[in-house]
Amino acid sequence: MLIKKSIDTKEKFRILTQDSQYDLACACGTNDSDRRHRSEDDKWIYPVSLGNGRTTFLFKTLLSNACSNNCKYCPIRASNDLRRCSLTPEETVKVFMEYYGAGKVSGLFLSSGVMGNPDNTMESINKTAIILRRKGFRGYVHLKVMPGASNAAIEQAVSLASAVSLNIETAGEKHFNKIASGKNYMDDIIRPLKYISKLTEKGSLFDRIKHTTQFIVGASDETDKEIVKYFWGLYKRLGLSRVYFSAYQRGLGTNDLPGENSSSSNSDILLREHRLYQADWLVRKYGFTENDILFEKDGNLSLKYDPKEYWAINHPAYFPVNINRTDKYELLRVPGLGQVTIDRILELRRNGIMIKSLQQLGKIGKRLKKAEQYVRFGY
Ligand code: SF4
Repeated sequence: MLIKKSIDTKEKFRILTQDSQYDLACACGTNDSDRRHRSEDDKWIYPVSLGNGRTTFLFKTLLSNACSNNCKYCPIRASNDLRRCSLTPEETVKVFMEYYGAGKVSGLFLSSGVMGNPDNTMESINKTAIILRRKGFRGYVHLKVMPGASNAAIEQAVSLASAVSLNIETAGEKHFNKIASGKNYMDDIIRPLKYISKLTEKGSLFDRIKHTTQFIVGASDETDKEIVKYFWGLYKRLGLSRVYFSAYQRGLGTNDLPGENSSSSNSDILLREHRLYQADWLVRKYGFTENDILFEKDGNLSLKYDPKEYWAINHPAYFPVNINRTDKYELLRVPGLGQVTIDRILELRRNGIMIKSLQQLGKIGKRLKKAEQYVRFGY
């Protein structure tokens, strides 16, 4: 593998930030298009949604695209013919601090290909964070944990970061082996994920550190049902903060990858990704359980209906609900009613105002109109 050392720093960033776009496990992007399309200049700057609805920006890059692994879905796998380069920790910090000092970014997302072995790579990732912290930077630093990293390297990353992530990639070992045969699912992925969970569990020294992961959707022949089962377990058993999904796009991987030979189009897989985010939202925010997420006969989420509407269609006896009496969690089951509208309903009720029509809740757009058939307005 040819690693170019002579190219200048800006050119390295251009190459490495381009390659980092497939990793979404950092809350980057306020919507699907933000995650994939940014301005022509400063492509390393990514929008990030904050909990309060505001947006901030992260500086996102790989330290190196010289990966010694050969994951079949990955554009920077060792066997792929592309320009390779690596940044030093010092180079990375210098450029990041220039952008931070100019007020263009508020934090750093740092990932990398595996340079030789996982702990060598972790050493460079952690060194970057050490230099940054020594310079007095107290802001957001998201560090990618390399598959197969040792417990000691993980502990150091967790002690330096605001958030860490290691991509699980697939729902289980069977699918993992179809797309990443050079790595060991249990040793390289599940063991470190469990160790990060232990370090960041509630009541521990690092319980404020966010722990996230990402599934690649459609690279193997997994179903959405398998992904939902796994992400449910990641939240409930390993206490992850967030799970992300990245649609595999045909043409990036090797010819023998199951995703290259499936009948789904790239736009179908992007829609699957979107539906998985909707299912994830229902689980995290609306009190849905794993069993409340329903699938088509082929084990995938409906592409026609969002998961909440699909649940409603399959539970006709639950509706219509009385908008003046039903509790918050039952209202959250109504298609077309989101958190903001439900807060409005609860506010009107607290003020003793009888709700007689949807017009009292706001402008009747396509979304609110959907609620019409599922609610009634009696006492
Ligand atoms: S280890 Fe990561 S960067 Fe390397 S080929 Fe696999 S997915 Fe790509």
